[in-house]
This record gives sequence, C-alpha cells and structure tokens, in this order.
Amino acid sequence: MRYYSLNHQSPTVDFREATIAGQAPDGGLYFPEQIPRFSAEFLTRLPALPRAEVAYEVIRPYVGACIPEDELRRICAETVDFEFPLVPVSDRISALELFHGPTLAFKDVGARFMSRCLGYFSRRQAAPITVLVATSGDTGGAVADGFLGVPGVEVVILYPSGKVSPLQEKQLTTLGQNITALEVRGNFDDCQQLVKQAFLDATVTQRRQLTSANSINVARWLPQQFYYLFALQQWTHAAPPVVAVPSGNFGNLCAGLLAHASGLPIGHFIAACNANDAVADYLRTGAFAARPAVATLSNAMDVGNPSNFGRILELFGQQHAALSALVSGATITDADTQATIRRTYQHTSYLPDPHGAVALLALENHLAEHPDARGFFLETAHPIKFPEVVEPVIGAAVPVPDSVQGLLSKPKQSILLEPRYEALQEFLLR
Ligand SMILES: *Cc1c(COP(=O)(O)O)cnc(C)c1O
Repeated sequence: MRYYSLNHQSPTVDFREATIAGQAPDGGLYFPEQIPRFSAEFLTRLPALPRAEVAYEVIRPYVGACIPEDELRRICAETVDFEFPLVPVSDRISALELFHGPTLAFKDVGARFMSRCLGYFSRRQAAPITVLVATSGDTGGAVADGFLGVPGVEVVILYPSGKVSPLQEKQLTTLGQNITALEVRGNFDDCQQLVKQAFLDATVTQRRQLTSANSINVARWLPQQFYYLFALQQWTHAAPPVVAVPSGNFGNLCAGLLAHASGLPIGHFIAACNANDAVADYLRTGAFAARPAVATLSNAMDVGNPSNFGRILELFGQQHAALSALVSGATITDADTQATIRRTYQHTSYLPDPHGAVALLALENHLAEHPDARGFFLETAHPIKFPEVVEPVIGAAVPVPDSVQGLLSKPKQSILLEPRYEALQEFLLR
C-alpha cells in the first residue's frame, strides 16, 4: 500500500515511512491509495473469528510488506488482548465498550498498535526515535502505556499542569523507564504550540528523530477500524446497525467510515458532537467553517478544526451529498449531556461517561425518528476518568476499577516546564 499526502505536494510513501514521519513534509495527512474490500467469505466467517485474526485481516493490506506476517500477527494479538463488549442498555440501544484496555480509553488500541510498529521499525535503524506528544488527558496515558519499555523509542509527553484529572495525571507520570512527563505551567494550547515548534526546529531535529503519536499518524488511525468489526461480530439483528460516534478530531469516525467503504454492513453513522460542532454543521448545510475550540464537559472532543475531516471528505470524493446520505451530524449541549448521564443511570443503572453520553443521546434522538432501527454508541472512556463531571450528576462516587487501584498511590514523577520554547529545547538537547 502506498500513501499520498492530502496536500498533494509530497511523494507517496509506504506504511513504514508514513508511520515514522506522522505527517507528510507538505503538512498534509497521509491517505491510502486504495481502499481494500473485505471478501464475502471473510464477512460470513466474521462472528466466529478470533479478534486477533480479524485485526490481522483488516490491517494486512495497509501494512503491505513493511512488517513480516509473523511479526504483524504478534502485534495484532497484543494490540487487542482485552474485551470489547457490546452491552445492551435498552431494547434498541447497546454500548460498545472501548474502555477495557490498560488506560481505560479507546485510544489504547491505536497507541498499542502504533507503538509496536514503531518498535519494530526502530530495531532496524541505529538512531533512537523520540515520540513527542501534547495531551489534554487521554492521549498521553494511552501513548505512555503503549510505548512503555519499547526499545529504541523515547517518549516525551507535555501536559497542562492542573488541567488533567488525577487518574489521567497518574497514568502519565508514574511509569518511568523510557517515558518522561513534562508538566507545563500553561494550558493544552501551550503544550501543542511547544510541540509544533520543536518539529520545526532544525537544531532539535538534527539531533533527534522526532515523531508524533496523535491520530494523524496512520498507525494510530487505521487500527481503529477494529472496533467496528468487533461490534459486528456481536450484532445479532438482521438489519445493519446505526452507529453513533462521539467525535473530536474525527479519527474514530473516519476509521468506521473506512471499514464501511471496505464492505462492513453498517446502516448509518451519527457524528455526535458537543458544542464544537463544525463538522455536524457541515453535514447539515454543506458549508465548513473551522472555529476556535470551546470548553465543554466532554473535553476530549473540544476540537475546533478536526484534523481527520479532510480524510472523511477524501473518502467521499469531496461529495457532500454522498457523505450526508450515510452520516448525520448531531450537536449535544452540556446540560443535555448531564441529563442523559443522570437519566440513563437512574432508569437502566448503566453509567455512561460524558463522551459516551453525547453519542447515546444523539442515537436516541435519531432512533425516535426511525422506529424500526436499532444501533449502538461507542463508549470511548470509563466514567472513572471524569469523576468531576459524573459524580455530582449522579450524586454518588464512581467505583474505581481494580486495574487502576494501585496507580492512585504511586508517586508522581514529572518535570515542571515554563511554557517557553527555550525550556523545551533545552530539555530535548540535554
Ligand atoms: C479522543 C477521544 C474522543 C474523540 O475521538 P476522535 O477520534 O478524536 O474523534 C472521544 N472520547 C474520548 C473519551 C476520547 O478520549
């Protein structure tokens, strides 16, 4: 498989080059030259196949000859070695729980896959790779966990001091080894700005091979297709499901659309947004306008200019009509998010997190107008990651899962950093 830049000013590359570079030199996102088709035989056998086998079949054409079969099978098996249950919430709605990985958020899948691919590639080159990433919470933890102990890869994570939840901070700062957390006295935009500057700084890039680990990287984006296949393995109704995806940078939804383009039977998609709804607006009107991000209760979706929107347009040949026939947009307010968490918990005892709640309400609204349809929403994080939102709404504490009990008592290790580029540069050149 070759990948071209959506800005069309850079040469095409293979999977290895796209993974190491992250973004094309012309600043564009990489996009696959062909969309593979699932065979009818594969789709018939899907419910009975082991998850690792499904993952391997889906990703193989995208990786091509860059990773040998036995190695790629091992990477796939390690990436998906936890559960992805489709849990009924009401008679027409289920939750696809994507939070059973080590950091309790769906980003674990992309981060685990990408880290293992990069680990494989770095074994065959002398110079170590530095993964530099800014996080507002979930990305950093998933990346840190995914890359922990991977030889030849050093991970540097920038996070805004005091602006991530206590559990998220522990996930970033307690691992040690090849993971360093820089605690920036500023906000998420400061962190992102510092990272961008480092990528443009030749003094740094001559000394270190830098790569990013957000969803613009094909090795983080493409494996997100797996969720949709795992859901369809568990889907027992004859009619294809309506799928609601809580969206921020739109990597997750775009991966679902890619799986659909390869032949996965999904009836309709909902791009579920909070107040940051530039894409939902586009779906309604055909006009796109990026805007500054606004803060909401579902803060992992507070993105004003989503990176993966360009990939979605490319997949549909820039045709609004084709895209809006398959995908509808929904905008959900913070007040409705809180009401949905409370009502769902009271009536069904299911406790959605703020991001899942946005998608759940968007799905309920859609199904109210389509009385014969059924569907599921993607529950992208465990509610314990957002106790400051969830606990006041339900008036109760969220029980801490066993898997993270130990984490909360581990000592935090971070390096405080002023939000000035010279401070980051000095750290990277040390
Ligand atoms: C990152 C994130 C999202 C948004 O996913 P995108 O792929 O960026 O659209 C939604 N929910 C949670 C919990 C997240 O961490």
